Amino acid sequence: MASSRRDLAVRAAVDQGLLSAAEPVVALLDTAGIRASAAALTSAFAAVTDAPVLHAFAVKACPLVPVLRLLREAGLGVEVASPGELALARAAGVPPADTVLDSPAKTPAELRQALALGIAVNADNLQELARLDALVASAPTASPLGIRVNPQVGAGSIGALSTATATSKFGVALRDEGARKAVVQACLERPWLTRLHTHTGSQGVPLALMAEGVGEAYALAEDINHAAGRQQIDTLDIGGGLPVDFHSDEETPTYAEYARLLADTVPGLFDGRYGLVTEFGRSLLAKHGTVLARVEYTKTSGGRPIAVTHAGVQLATRTVYAPDAWPLRVLAYDSEGRPRTGEVTVQDVAGPACFAGDLLATGRALPLLHQGDVVAVPDTGAYYFAHHYAYNSLPRPGIHGFTVTGGGAGSGNGGAGGDAGGAGSGSDDAGGAGVVAFTTVRKPQTLAEIVAESGGALADALVG
Ligand SMILES: *Cc1c(COP(=O)(O)O)cnc(C)c1O
Repeated sequence: MASSRRDLAVRAAVDQGLLSAAEPVVALLDTAGIRASAAALTSAFAAVTDAPVLHAFAVKACPLVPVLRLLREAGLGVEVASPGELALARAAGVPPADTVLDSPAKTPAELRQALALGIAVNADNLQELARLDALVASAPTASPLGIRVNPQVGAGSIGALSTATATSKFGVALRDEGARKAVVQACLERPWLTRLHTHTGSQGVPLALMAEGVGEAYALAEDINHAAGRQQIDTLDIGGGLPVDFHSDEETPTYAEYARLLADTVPGLFDGRYGLVTEFGRSLLAKHGTVLARVEYTKTSGGRPIAVTHAGVQLATRTVYAPDAWPLRVLAYDSEGRPRTGEVTVQDVAGPACFAGDLLATGRALPLLHQGDVVAVPDTGAYYFAHHYAYNSLPRPGIHGFTVTGGGAGSGNGGAGGDAGGAGSGSDDAGGAGVVAFTTVRKPQTLAEIVAESGGALADALVG
């Protein structure tokens, strides 16, 4: 998110009472930023190929209906991996023709529904192909059908997110004894199998390794088509996985860099013989989400200052449990929502949950936080606040989209320059520099909802 837009939004969230003593944690989504990322993705691929490309947003990254609707309006489809995600996509109005189903554990009922709707399905394995055999034989379907392959090109820096290791649970492991031949044979026996799918990247996987995985899938498609004597594989689904910079406001690597790398390393991919599907998630949303939380108390422990805030494990689960793999920035604002200045002090920023490890940041150098201050946690638009973890029955926070008009801060797409004075982070009074309008994307969870979702209507279940 452009820092000038973020500063305006923090100030406005406090001014307009979105963040308050009663509502001490909220999440913000920068609508203009999301639009800009969707446009950057579309134009990056349009610059390297005339082939038809469906950019299917991985719903997993930000499962919110208004976000899916916004991306839909920007021309994107969706990639879903569960009945819940499919329901969200349908609620957002995404048509089946622009929907791809990918989960590794699809039930027969899920497959039947997908084929009845005409949603594209990527089978994860050969057993799933056998299920598809029966369904395809029993009723005609408009669903394009594919199979996921694991090129086994290796891991990135985060093991849990490395999908293309030798022993990954996803897809058919191509380098295993006999596996590649089995996939070719499976395709030759099934004229309706027209797609190959691979998703080799994710946070921590270098672009070159992602491109290598795509190259393996492309080579396999060429082999299948050669063996079939026709263009049986007509579409390659190259997955998502573009990593995100969690250390600054930079939006790197860019889609343009990745598309250019693919064009250089797998040129046949873009020559028009193959339709393409992409499945980016984190890179479309991460930079456009920010959590705001009030500092409830400050103290020192063992000589170290600690700010106890309302943002912790419930919305930054990965960071709290695996802080080295998932560091997040923390930005300090005063109680009015102005960037906090003052002496930089090494301190801990803690969350509200009742276990000692609930820390957003440990030993972080920041202007010393005070009671009533606001901390902003940027880069949390994907896999963070939309992925609530119900520890301590902490409520899901409200999520609000925002737009900025006027003051030169309105329509920038992440660039730092160009703001005509007043909107900068050092400004004492951002009012007049840009008007921030919020719209609710998800309401905060109520206590009544927590009770209802926790068996409230079944209170006698264990005593009756
Ligand atoms: C998670 C996932 C994605 C999205 O990955 P990002 O790293 O968020 O871009 C795409 N495709 C599949 C199959 C996935 O499992």
